[in-house]
Amino acid sequence: MSFNNLGLPNALLKEIASEGYAKPYPIQEQAIPAILNGKDVLGIAKTGSGKTASYVLPILIKLQHKAAPKNRHIQALILVPTRELASQVFETFKLFSSALPTPIKSLAVFGGASINPQMIQMQGARVLIATPGRLIELKESNAMNLSEVEIIVLDEADKMLNLGFRDEMDKILSYLPSKRQNLLFSATLSKEIQGINRLLLNDPIEIKIENSEGSIELIDQTAYLILDEQKGPLLRYLLKTEALKQVLIFTSSVYKADQVAEKLTKNGFSAQAIHSKKSQRARNVALADFKSGKLNVLIATDLLSRGVDIDHLPVVINYELPRSPKDFIHRIGRTGRAESRGLAITFITKEELHHFKVIQKKMGKWIQLTFTDELDLRGF
Ligand code: AMP
Repeated sequence: MSFNNLGLPNALLKEIASEGYAKPYPIQEQAIPAILNGKDVLGIAKTGSGKTASYVLPILIKLQHKAAPKNRHIQALILVPTRELASQVFETFKLFSSALPTPIKSLAVFGGASINPQMIQMQGARVLIATPGRLIELKESNAMNLSEVEIIVLDEADKMLNLGFRDEMDKILSYLPSKRQNLLFSATLSKEIQGINRLLLNDPIEIKIENSEGSIELIDQTAYLILDEQKGPLLRYLLKTEALKQVLIFTSSVYKADQVAEKLTKNGFSAQAIHSKKSQRARNVALADFKSGKLNVLIATDLLSRGVDIDHLPVVINYELPRSPKDFIHRIGRTGRAESRGLAITFITKEELHHFKVIQKKMGKWIQLTFTDELDLRGF
């Protein structure tokens, strides 16, 4: 299957080619024609599967064929759980829209950033990407009109439920016209998602992408058994001796993320922490610097284990184990994406061995453990 068979206009085909997408991912093959045909879609697919382009491309095509609405009247609404995902979806809209003869304005709005500029930017927006709380705030201040929404996307719907956004989601749906196209994307098909599916979707096309998390098969994994106080030296040893360049490190707390960043910076590494206690601006800048290669090491909490999309990220390090095996899989899934190989390194203390076994069992993959007494960490 090639992108040429999906009913996309030349302008978009050109942009897809210049992005280096050789052929559509399975979710794109199935979702693009279904969405263009006006069907509701239930997509069980994770970040890394190419799900964003699978709805962004057909939405742009559909809007291109429609008259521009009155000012501040939104035609496509994308609900997302986090600011990071909002920014990424926005970037995808911006990228493909700029290739169209008449670009379609999209806007991302989310909490943690001041609301006034978002109200002003609403001018002329036809696509709105929003986290639920901020969307309601904006709606209640009459910043936009949702009575002409024709397409709604719930992206990472399972994460939205996990974050407790159920009531907000219901409220938002009540703002929308009842005749509309509904697209629901979720990493898992839980009971709750099935419930929403039945309530929201009308005879949907169901698309299930197995093992789409960049497929952990593309991730080489190693683990080091280490004393807690030796984690810092081991980290610096790996960064130096392996000359690791673009490394995403996960810690389990904000405090630890800051501490690791501070220690690395003191030791001359270019490192920054990114977590919920940082301002949105600081998070955006750190992420952009990391993506561009200006920043070598980014230390994150689990807030970022989903949604963040860094093409060809080579290495993820679990400085601390997450409690949930799911989070472990999401963390390591930041690498080994877009069909290139990745490396995930995990630090384990003796006390965590049992928990690590549980994680490996859930993941269905056993990881070779290296004993650090074989390494000379003196001087690191
Ligand atoms: P997503 O699952 O939407 O977060 O997309 C994951 C990554 O795959 C993004 O970096 C996209 O730019 C990239 N991508 C999406 N579709 C394709 C494709 N057909 N070929 C190659 N890369 C793609």
